[in-house]
Amino acid sequence: MKPNRGNILIGVVVFAALAILHDRLGPQKISAGGAPCCAPFASAATLPPGTEPPKDGGGDENLVRPADDFFPEWANSAEFNQPVLVRDTQSALGRLSASPKEISLKDLARMHGHLCDGLVISFVELKAALLRLFPDGVVDRTDLRIVSKNGPCWMDAAAWLTGARINFQTLRVDSAVGDGFIVQKISTNEAWEVRLKPGVFPEALAALEKRIRDLRANGQPVDPADVDRFEAMANDLIRHLLNTPPDVLLVLAPRPGYRFQFNDLYGGRGDIINRDLR
Ligand SMILES: [Zn+2]
Repeated sequence: MKPNRGNILIGVVVFAALAILHDRLGPQKISAGGAPCCAPFASAATLPPGTEPPKDGGGDENLVRPADDFFPEWANSAEFNQPVLVRDTQSALGRLSASPKEISLKDLARMHGHLCDGLVISFVELKAALLRLFPDGVVDRTDLRIVSKNGPCWMDAAAWLTGARINFQTLRVDSAVGDGFIVQKISTNEAWEVRLKPGVFPEALAALEKRIRDLRANGQPVDPADVDRFEAMANDLIRHLLNTPPDVLLVLAPRPGYRFQFNDLYGGRGDIINRDLR
């Protein structure tokens, strides 16, 4: 449509009407989908307990910022909870960045949805393997392939900490790897397998988790107190993992000659290699 005086006039009238509505009703009332159209945070009336007002004076004293209670202070201040330094490309067509960035356990917990023992085991294990592959402490996230079991916490940690992805065929899902990972540097083929030492994961926690899952699988009710007990035990394990030197917790084994295969669904045909043999 070519601009003409009529179109311009209609535009001015619509803009003026919207401005008046915005002024009269406030920014949150004229959002069509029910969500605030302009406010970065929900209003105080819609937030659950445990929230606090913004400390940066973000412009509107009626707005509140959600508390970071998904990540407790005892985890934040744990002795071995340092972030991983990583390097990525600078843009969609960019060079490898010269300056590293930090990826923390809190970053992983924020995106995963919660802090759990699986996420922390994954963080501790992957970090140790990455530091073997990148002894200068800066991890090139464009140069990694990972093998992980199909667990929500394990897969999330593997993808977000290392940059390996299923869609790039750099993240193999293989439950045979168990509660550990194989981490490979693409450019050199150097590979390390990492897992917890026997006895680090408490048998009582494994037994309680299995009992709760079995009850659910059989349609049986679960005692909420058991879930509370499970969470308390998982938090005890997380505390232990984040306050213990990695070499006390982990077995790291080199995997020389490791051949990464993205998945087992496609492959060469093995039964015909001798078909022309005489
Ligand atoms: Zn989890």
